[in-house]
Amino acid sequence: MLSPGDQRDEVILDAPAKINLFLKILGRRPDGYHDLQSLMVKVDLSDRLRLWPIDSGIQFEFKGNEVPDDSSNLVWKAAKLFYRHTGIPEGVAIQLEKNIPVAAGLGGGSSDGAAVLLALNQLHGGGLSENTLADLGKRLGADVPFFIRPYSVAYAQGVGDRLTQVSGLGHYEIVLVNPGFSVSTKWAFETFALTSKVNPYILAPEWDYPASTSTYLREIPKFPVDVAVMANDLEKATIPHHSVVGEIKAVLQKCGALLSLMSGSGPTVFGVFPDHDRAVAGFEICCRNFGKMVYLTKPLP
Ligand code: ATP
Repeated sequence: MLSPGDQRDEVILDAPAKINLFLKILGRRPDGYHDLQSLMVKVDLSDRLRLWPIDSGIQFEFKGNEVPDDSSNLVWKAAKLFYRHTGIPEGVAIQLEKNIPVAAGLGGGSSDGAAVLLALNQLHGGGLSENTLADLGKRLGADVPFFIRPYSVAYAQGVGDRLTQVSGLGHYEIVLVNPGFSVSTKWAFETFALTSKVNPYILAPEWDYPASTSTYLREIPKFPVDVAVMANDLEKATIPHHSVVGEIKAVLQKCGALLSLMSGSGPTVFGVFPDHDRAVAGFEICCRNFGKMVYLTKPLP
């Protein structure tokens, strides 16, 4: 068990989860990654990281949901990358309180990695700019730059790293339902490519995204249910293998969610509710039906 030294020297940061309000896969790139378009929103379900200086090395421990405790952990990788890039001698202890479900489509590992880069920069004098931290983050994973940025909603292009800030989601509340198993992002993308009868390198043309998130949500009730804009393409891969994802979506919609989709590569499903009362009712029904990994959250402002 690591024990913090002088509390004045420690940095505590929350690492929030994200959902994808839509996720369109445009095609596979020659490097194996996929070009996509997505609207990403940070929510107030968070991991918590606590860092403080030590004489030398990188020490790491976690409590909560199970994550790897070796060099494959994004916390450790982010710390290594920071020290290698800056040339500052290694010297940090990191405690991770893991609250976000793992391999769940909620970006928890990416968010932890981003939080470590931000926290180490703070701990060691703030020498790196936000753009440099975002560039470093991209080396850890496509979603990491989003968590480096201070804004809560972004339209993402490229592999998810080309970001445009979008206005916030406002008063909506979001119920997250995790069915209690994990899905690998790599598996979801590979399986999705197999579902496509067309050239997997060009799956869809680019399209214009709505100017603001709230405009997008206001438009939702007007769309026919199958309209492409409301979709997460990766559901085509996941739902045939995990029918509970479809069942959760149906329950959330029945409870009054304006939009219910799998987030990212899943299997977590979210429902966006127009007000607190309907969100609480949806949350309680999902707790009864789908167990304990159900969360009532708000989008970050
Ligand atoms: P993404 O959509 O960003 O690929 P995800 O939200 O579906 O990811 P994560 O929770 O980020 O999934 O976990 C993805 C993989 O990364 C898991 O296999 C997990 O073992 C590994 N991993 C490494 N470090 C972490 C971490 N700090 N938190 C969560 N997972 C981690």
